[in-house]
Amino acid sequence: MSAETLRGVVVPLIYLVSATLFMFGLKRLAKVRTARNGNRMAAVAMLLAVAGTLLEMGVVDYTWILVGTIVGGLIGVIVAVRVEMTSMPEMVALFNGFGGAASALVALSVFWRSVVENGSAQLEPMAAIAGGLSILIGAITLTGSLMAFLKLQGKPNKGQPVLLPARHLLNGILLLGAFGAVGYFGFYAPTASAVTNGILAVTGASLLLGILLVLPIGGADMPVVVSLLNSYSGLAAAAAGFVIGNPLLIIAGALVGAAGLILTQIMCVAMNRSLLNVLVGGFGQASSGPAGSDDYEGVRSSGAEEAAMMLETAESVIIVPGYGLAVAQAQHAVRELADLLEKRGTKVSYAIHPVAGRMPGHMNVLLAEADVPYEQLFELEEINGEFKQTDVVFVVGANDVVNPAANDDPASPIYGMPILNVDEARTVFVIKRSLSPGFAGMKNTLFERDNTMMIFGDAKDVLQKLATEIDEL
Ligand code: NAP
Repeated sequence: MSAETLRGVVVPLIYLVSATLFMFGLKRLAKVRTARNGNRMAAVAMLLAVAGTLLEMGVVDYTWILVGTIVGGLIGVIVAVRVEMTSMPEMVALFNGFGGAASALVALSVFWRSVVENGSAQLEPMAAIAGGLSILIGAITLTGSLMAFLKLQGKPNKGQPVLLPARHLLNGILLLGAFGAVGYFGFYAPTASAVTNGILAVTGASLLLGILLVLPIGGADMPVVVSLLNSYSGLAAAAAGFVIGNPLLIIAGALVGAAGLILTQIMCVAMNRSLLNVLVGGFGQASSGPAGSDDYEGVRSSGAEEAAMMLETAESVIIVPGYGLAVAQAQHAVRELADLLEKRGTKVSYAIHPVAGRMPGHMNVLLAEADVPYEQLFELEEINGEFKQTDVVFVVGANDVVNPAANDDPASPIYGMPILNVDEARTVFVIKRSLSPGFAGMKNTLFERDNTMMIFGDAKDVLQKLATEIDEL
């Protein structure tokens, strides 16, 4: 069999296996129990994709490929090992941006080679349009993600929305201009210099658009924006796949695009916000600022000893983790406390809100790190009916996701957001450092309920004290 025939048979086969592994890997990522395996499957799929592409292209000089693989791999390993769990959204934002940039560069290089080698952009209109779209979406993804990264770090303007005058008009003009330029060099580009100018216009407008589109959105909404940009990076890759005629890149890009969009939708529903409401920006700036302790009446506080005494007789306990658990890195302390309670015969469950923390699956990942058994984790719909029959609830560093205002205050910005109905339990202990608000910047009426007691302090310290007290009972 000749090398050419071998390529004709083997390459499509490799692509088919790779595409299948990508799909099954993504499916397995949807469940905590199978997620690690799904990740491995997707990694093997990526390896096969690279191998198939090299075989298809007949690449003989591996020098730069090896340099890129080693440098990129090293950066990836160092970042993955060093990143804090609370900085994960920043890392994902950066990686999305680089993904978008890579797709835009692939499309740019195709145009570049065509113009330099042939003196004109001899591309089919459809390939030229796909290339233009890849540059447009990829460039927006790059600068939008860099802006999201800065916002997550509290810059500029402390991550608050920056509302430029006439921003919608400006964005509209830039978007129309960018699409117009894509159409121009796709269907009617008489000369190589016209193509070059068109590409420069698309690139410049899109880079600027990425910044301007994210600027008015508050840092608080960045996880949704990052998820949407993730979807964009997939679309940019799929468009690049059309330009270089690589079916696997089209499939993988489409999978990322669809998955990112579905995740964005899930996050919006869980926050009871529309995507348009997030993208128009300005959310949170009208809030009256942090609710201080003066805004609360009749708040009761407790110490670890009192809570431990209550736990002595409790038959059922539900733990509700939130962003504060991630900040305090209290996942191991929470597991140790749960182990002690279980040894005493108490039934322990964990209630996971879909947007607890700062990224989807944040709490699941933290608890999995501490080897909390999956069988004890329950999603909102599964556990909300259980609170009524529960003796004690521990809210560990969660705030917005247990705020009853979402159920009973139509004036609240989070009214309608599904919450964990912890207030229905017999006794609720809320572990946090102060009465400061959470992510949505608003007062939590749970803290004033008769059955609620605050235990002020760092989540890890409080949980460790509690474990010591229970051990001594
Ligand atoms: P939250 O409402 O942001 O509240 C977290 C609480 O943790 C704060 O009130 C803080 O109070 C406390 N805290 C911080 N550090 C602590 C520590 N070391 N020890 C103990 N407590 C500590 O968190 P949440 O209830 O998890 O809600 C998540 C919010 O993020 C929701 O509003 C959701 O809409 C939003 N969001 C989530 C996602 C996602 O994908 N998960 C995406 C976008 C938006 P103190 O300062 O008083 O300690």
